[in-house]
Amino acid sequence: MNSFDLTGKRALVTGASGGLGQAMAIGLAEAGADVVAVASSECRDTVAQIREMGRQAEWIAADLSKEELLEGVVSQAIGMIGGIDILVNNAGIIRRAPAAAHSRQDWHDVISLNLDSLFFLCQLVGNHMLERGSGKIINIASMLTYQGGINVPGYTASKHGVAGITKALANEWAGRGVQVNAIAPGYMTTNNTAPIIADENRYKAITERIPAGRWGTPDDMKGPAVFLASSASDYMNGHVLCVDGGWMAR
Ligand code: NAD
Repeated sequence: MNSFDLTGKRALVTGASGGLGQAMAIGLAEAGADVVAVASSECRDTVAQIREMGRQAEWIAADLSKEELLEGVVSQAIGMIGGIDILVNNAGIIRRAPAAAHSRQDWHDVISLNLDSLFFLCQLVGNHMLERGSGKIINIASMLTYQGGINVPGYTASKHGVAGITKALANEWAGRGVQVNAIAPGYMTTNNTAPIIADENRYKAITERIPAGRWGTPDDMKGPAVFLASSASDYMNGHVLCVDGGWMAR
């Protein structure tokens, strides 16, 4: 199991205050990594849980949709833990409104966080990794990387884009020691999906379509994140790994 060991590795995880980002940050720490958590909301709970394991954990409060903050966030994170070996680009939002009435504000808010900030964080941290000739980047995609969804055109566009960025960077960086891959989560119980869970009919219809017969939990993201962050996945580049209870197989 040594190839899954992350002892001595340093991870930057965005959107790690709760939901999938928190679980992945904790999963990486359980495998041995030190972690800087970044989010627009507090990451105290995430940091406390990781420190309890005896790992180093720090957090930075930042609105990552503000492009001008990104360089500062990355250099602050490097200053806190000495470098970044693993980047998990997880922070993301969704805005629900029919395509015919989707506002410019909703469109731009979603694209600027889910796509613009994700790319520029890949670039900033990627350059740091390329200098050392090693690193692992994990971008968080979605089932809407493959499907159109309903009432979420901006989100769908952003998540299709996440797969494109992942493949484009993999082509350029695979030969230089930096692996860029993505995870496409299926339907997971978090704040992001709370409105669908609250809609009894929609919740039932989705659950019935999942071969595993249940929604995912944030903890379901831990193993896949550790795998893509570790040397166990050294020959994987530009891959989008579905963690979806079989949704895409149906
Ligand atoms: P969540 O709403 O529970 O958590 C989102 C995280 O992003 C929080 O830590 C929040 O503080 C942070 N965040 C939001 N806006 C930010 C900003 N402007 N700057 C910095 N941080 C910001 O969501 P989640 O369900 O855990 O989703 C995490 C990722 O997984 C997202 O990219 C989402 O699109 C993706 N995803 C989720 C599901 C699901 O079913 N929950 C499915 C597919 C993909």
